[in-house]
Amino acid sequence: MSQSQLVDRILNNKPEPDKAILNKAYIFGTKMHGRQLRASGDPYFSHPIEVAGILSDLKLDTTSVVCALLHDTIEDTNATIEDIEENFGKEVAKLVDGVTKLTLLEGKPGSTKQAENFRKLLLASASDIRILLIKLADRLHNMRTLHFIKDQKKRKRISIETLEIYAPLAGRIGMQELKEELEDLSFTFIEPKIRDILIERLKSSKKKKSKIVQFTKKELEKVLKKNKIKSSVFGREKKPYSIWKKLEVQHKSLEQLSDIFGFRVCVDSISECYQVLGILHGEWQAIPGKFKDYISTPKKNGYQSLHTTLMGPQNQRVEVQIRTEKMNELAERGLAAHWIYKDTEEVERDYLSSIEWINDLVDILNRDGATEEFLENTKLELFLDQIYAFTPKGTLVALPRNATALDFAYAVHTELGNFCGSVKINGIDKPRRTILQNGDEVEILKSKIPVALESLQEFVKTGKAKSAIIRSIKEKKSHNQRLLGKAIIKSVFSSHRKKPTRDILERSFGALQVNSLKSLYELVGEGTSSGSQVYDLVFPNNKRKKRKKNYVEKNISIPVQGLLSDMPAQFAENSFLVPGDKIVGIVSPEKGITIFSVDSNELTNFEKSPESWIKLQWKKDIDFTFTSRIKITIINEVGVLNSITSTIADYGGNINNLILNEKDNDFYNLIIDINVNDNRHISDIVKSLEGLPVVEAVIRFIG
Ligand code: MN
Repeated sequence: MSQSQLVDRILNNKPEPDKAILNKAYIFGTKMHGRQLRASGDPYFSHPIEVAGILSDLKLDTTSVVCALLHDTIEDTNATIEDIEENFGKEVAKLVDGVTKLTLLEGKPGSTKQAENFRKLLLASASDIRILLIKLADRLHNMRTLHFIKDQKKRKRISIETLEIYAPLAGRIGMQELKEELEDLSFTFIEPKIRDILIERLKSSKKKKSKIVQFTKKELEKVLKKNKIKSSVFGREKKPYSIWKKLEVQHKSLEQLSDIFGFRVCVDSISECYQVLGILHGEWQAIPGKFKDYISTPKKNGYQSLHTTLMGPQNQRVEVQIRTEKMNELAERGLAAHWIYKDTEEVERDYLSSIEWINDLVDILNRDGATEEFLENTKLELFLDQIYAFTPKGTLVALPRNATALDFAYAVHTELGNFCGSVKINGIDKPRRTILQNGDEVEILKSKIPVALESLQEFVKTGKAKSAIIRSIKEKKSHNQRLLGKAIIKSVFSSHRKKPTRDILERSFGALQVNSLKSLYELVGEGTSSGSQVYDLVFPNNKRKKRKKNYVEKNISIPVQGLLSDMPAQFAENSFLVPGDKIVGIVSPEKGITIFSVDSNELTNFEKSPESWIKLQWKKDIDFTFTSRIKITIINEVGVLNSITSTIADYGGNINNLILNEKDNDFYNLIIDINVNDNRHISDIVKSLEGLPVVEAVIRFIG
């Protein structure tokens, strides 16, 4: 098409186009695409021209036509978006940019697998409905010229994509004609043999058919004229694809289908539509259950018409659609038809603004209140609250707006979330908390070990991710507690040279009200029960053997010199003093003598009454043990417990209690009570523990 032919075509369709800008775009496009060729051998620029032609036939505004001429310049030539803006202004640049972005999305492999999501993605990405219309026109021309592509696989892939994504999209915005052409072109490449057979079969009955069509058309016109209705009557020929679809869906024979004739009656007003209906029903027998009134209840995409089926003049079934010219325009061109009903450029611009077209679409889609077709289970507002991101393999993932890369990982698979080590978005390393944008490609790099989820909880938006994280933290905690409980039991038992086998441990189930080893370990791990308690339960007549008796268990007097025989004496509460520790006594009328460590903070309370202090000293050759308490900070690996307990055992310490506090993710605080001979004994143990690589710090707690 030459420059002047295009302008003529647009002039025909639209009374006052801005010729100057059209010519400028034509020249810009020609220059940019230069010597590029299409698969057909035609100059590349023939393609944008044809796309512009399609849009002008849709009676779209000049801006759309200009964008059509420029639509491939960013993607396929050296032109930049700045060049476009400089030459054609912001609006054109925005539209061309939008079309380019849709084209980039389109190239994702595997995206057709979730056609519905992909359609939503395209809708959500097109900030202006014209972007979508240009894209559809682009696709239509590419389909019209697809036979030039030699690669059969590629032809089929593009056709399937067209059939699954673009044709339904055209249908949903009401562009029936465009939809049917896209479907039929796709059908040509996807099922060429079936299509040939269909056409062949249809041909044989065509002569007979066309006679019936002609006759029926005349009869219809005659009846309407007699009733003084000004109308135009069309006999419709069904496209091979829609016949094929009916064969597939309705399981009817070709003969049954080709017996159905379709007619369309267009009149001036709505009241005439109902008048025509009355006339036809009076003249011919109406087939019950076939009448539909889409005028009082339009379809979601705005479609309005009356449908009825009659036994026609020659006893053939005749489908008749009755509608006004305006409805017909809308039925064939859908949203694009709105343009011709807009009065001034000003209104048009308002109408086209990005927010407005969405409202308009919502309005159209909501017209019959139903949701099944376009919205499925979501409202449009809801899906505009969604974003669509891709896996590297091209699978589409729908997420709420503001969802992060971590949400994405959980949406793909819970495991992927739990092991989400790091992420790449569009090939670039990004934090896991990054908020995703429409069309982002997200690659999740798995870590070898489960990631610390506690700190990531606030970075997810979706319910799925939130509950998965909570569940996982809980599981991890009880898993760790089980491991820990098992280790505690093992170490207590081995200090008595016993093995905690299943048979033995089961003896404690009743008393501890558990029903499995797992829950027994958990009970000990979380500190509800202790290892020695379990031991005492399973060996009731075999109380723990001790090399020496412990002071606490033996009801014996305190082995300290300097106490007064007529006064009761005791160690300070919460103190863990052992022989050799420096001690002092405080005398009080109520308590008698309380023994403190000389380093105890509580002694400050008695600084003002030096008379109550008495000097004390441990006796020599004490023949029993004392309980000493240490606090160890260890690296968060449950396995390290073994090396700690065996070290203590090797130094002759006897563990009688083990308490675990989780400090944070990387460290545990472990409190161990050990029966020792004296303070040299415990300090030897502390020193050897400090030497272990897994131990971060050891503190002796004296009190
Ligand atoms: Mn193109």
